[in-house]
Amino acid sequence: MKIISQIKLRYLLNLSALICMTAVIILLESFSTLAATDKTQSDILNNAADLSTKLDQYWQNAKNEVYKSVLELIAQDQSELEKNLKFSKLMHGDTTKKQIAITFDDGPHPEFTPKLLDLLDKYNIKATFFLVGEMAEKNPELVRAEVAAGHSIGNHTFHHVNLKKIPESDVATEIKACGEVLENITGKPPHLFRPPGGDYDKSVALVSEALGYKMILWTDDPGDYLNPGDKVIERKILSRIDNGGIILVHDGIQQTLDVLPRIIEHLKNEGYEFVTIDQMLINK
Ligand SMILES: [Zn+2]
Repeated sequence: MKIISQIKLRYLLNLSALICMTAVIILLESFSTLAATDKTQSDILNNAADLSTKLDQYWQNAKNEVYKSVLELIAQDQSELEKNLKFSKLMHGDTTKKQIAITFDDGPHPEFTPKLLDLLDKYNIKATFFLVGEMAEKNPELVRAEVAAGHSIGNHTFHHVNLKKIPESDVATEIKACGEVLENITGKPPHLFRPPGGDYDKSVALVSEALGYKMILWTDDPGDYLNPGDKVIERKILSRIDNGGIILVHDGIQQTLDVLPRIIEHLKNEGYEFVTIDQMLINK
């Protein structure tokens, strides 16, 4: 009887020890889950802060970019011709047709792209967006909205870098990475490419061509990225307008948004048709 009681007692002690241990484990697990939740939340907040700092930095850099002037681009084209270099590129559309292509560089921009799309929709015109890979990756729905609205999109490198200042192997990586992001989002590989700042040399042009791109330059650059004032942007754009013109402006500039309705109305009244770069290429 005594032995049986001792066994019962030992059994009860073991059982209560087991219950205590289970309770401790459950408690510890819930603490660690709580800590993990806290960690995840603070990570999300930190990542959001990092992203916002990076985006600020990005837009600051984009604003500081110095574009090649149209005259410099023409001089470069001339020197290529003299050297018998022929790259796959477009300087302008058909000069016998009253067509204009508006191109927006550096987006998509979470604040400005939806406003631009609304504006283009209001006037029922199509444009072309040269997208930065890392911005597209963060805003895929805006890229899809651009394509769904019938606009053309093109590659503007992944990090928006001056391709003449990086090694040739990085040039290919920059263009390829942006191309892959755009293909993943839209299901189609892009075939239009614009080098940031219009900066390219023989090796950049050959890499772009080898990757299946046509390099798209411009005829009309009002320097909107310098925020010169909407009147200056308007005057510069309109003074350079010609058949087959390609206007270079930016996604992310308020002054450009402000002045676009006046420019579109003016050019429509003069009988210009707004086309995408893709339409320009077909018609040329
Ligand atoms: Zn750019």
